[in-house]
Amino acid sequence: IDSRFPNMGTTIFTVMSKLAAECGAVNLSQGFPDFQAEPALFDAMHRHMLAGRNQYAPMAGLPELRQAIVDKVAALYGATYDVESEVTVTAGATQAIFTAIAAFVRPGDEVLVFEPVYDSYVPAIETVGGTAVFAQLKFPDYAPDWEQVKKLISPKTRMIVVNSPHNPTGSLLSAVDLEKLAEMVRGTDIVILSDEVYEHILFDGEQHASLSGHPELAARSIVVSSFGKTYHITGWKIGYVVGPAALMAEFRKVHQFNVFTVHAPSQLAIAEYMQDASRHLGLAAFYQEKRDFFRELMAPTPFRLLPCRGTYFQLASYAGLSELGDRAFAEWLTREVGVAVIPVSVFNADGRDDKVVRFCFAKREETLVAASQRLLKAF
Ligand code: PMP
Ligand code: GLN
Repeated sequence: IDSRFPNMGTTIFTVMSKLAAECGAVNLSQGFPDFQAEPALFDAMHRHMLAGRNQYAPMAGLPELRQAIVDKVAALYGATYDVESEVTVTAGATQAIFTAIAAFVRPGDEVLVFEPVYDSYVPAIETVGGTAVFAQLKFPDYAPDWEQVKKLISPKTRMIVVNSPHNPTGSLLSAVDLEKLAEMVRGTDIVILSDEVYEHILFDGEQHASLSGHPELAARSIVVSSFGKTYHITGWKIGYVVGPAALMAEFRKVHQFNVFTVHAPSQLAIAEYMQDASRHLGLAAFYQEKRDFFRELMAPTPFRLLPCRGTYFQLASYAGLSELGDRAFAEWLTREVGVAVIPVSVFNADGRDDKVVRFCFAKREETLVAASQRLLKAF
C-alpha cells in the first residue's frame, strides 16, 4: 500500500505497555490506574442500562451530563457556559483534540505546540494538512518561554495548543502565564485548544489556572477534559469540551460525522456520580499521597527526581546512571530490571534527549513498592 503516513510509528504507550506485558515488568509506563473505581459508578451504569437508556444520546451529549459539566466548571472556575450550545461530550480527550484540530486547522495553517508535546497533537495537525511549530519547555523546569512563543507566532498561526497540568513533565501554567498567552493572541484570530485533562491533579495546594476561568482567553478557547483521569476509568473513553457557542458550532460540525455521539449509559452514570463534588475535589489529595509515597520510595535510588506539580507522572533523570539514550534505557529497564517507563525524548520533535524517563504513579502501593524494589536491587 502507498502509505499516507510512511514515517508514523506506533504510539509509545502501546509499545511500552506491550513490552511490559511481554517481559512481566511492573508497568509504570502508560498512564492508567491499576486500581478500581468506586462500585457506585458501576451500579449507576448498570441501573441505567436496565432502565433502557441504551440508544443514541443526542449528538452533543445527554443533557444530564452537559448540565453537570457546566455546573462543575462554573463552581470551580467561575465560567458560564450554555448547556445547549457550549458543551459537547466526547469519546475521551483524544477524540476531542482530534476533532477540534480538524474543525479549525486548514491545510497550510500553523499550530503552535509546546514540547515535550503529548503524542496525539502533532499527528492530528499533520493529518489535516497543518504544520506544527514547536516552542520549548526546557529541562529541568519546563516553563514556557513567552519571548520564544512571540517569535514563533506568524500570520499563518491558526491555533495554539496548551496543556496544564502538563504531560509528561508535571509542570503547570500559572495565572501569569495565562496573561502572557492573552497578550500573544490579542488582536489575532488564533484559537486556543487547552488540554486540561489533569485539571484536578495538582499538588502542594497549587490551584489550576483553567483557561475557562480567564474571560479573555475563554472567548477563543476550546477547553478539554477527560473523565478517564478524574474517575479512574480510562477505558470508558469519555471526556468533554467547553467553549463559546461560535467555536462549539464549528467543533460540532466535525464531531457529528466523527463519532456523532458517545456511549449513553456511561454519560448517565457519570452525570449522577459527579453530583458529589468531593469525588473530583478529593483527587488532588488522593494523588498527592501517591506522589509523596512514590518519591519516598525512589529517594534511595540513584535516579534524580524532577519537580512534579501536577498530573500522575513523575519525571526522573538517569544521567550518570547509564550511557544509553532514553529509548534504549527505557527498553533496557523494562527487559532487564522489570520496570517499564516512558522515554521523554519521544515527545520532542527534534528527538532532544535529556536522559529523562517518566514513571506513572497512578498505581496501588504494592505496585509502586514492587517497582522500587526492582530498581533498588538493580542500582
Ligand atoms: N491529553 C493528555 C495530556 C493526556 O495525558 C491524555 C491521556 N493520557 C489524553 C489527552 C487523552 O485522554 P483520553 O484517554 O480521555 O482520550
Ligand atoms: N495519556 C496516557 C499517557 O500519557 C496514555 C493514553 C494512551 O495510551 N493513548 O500515558
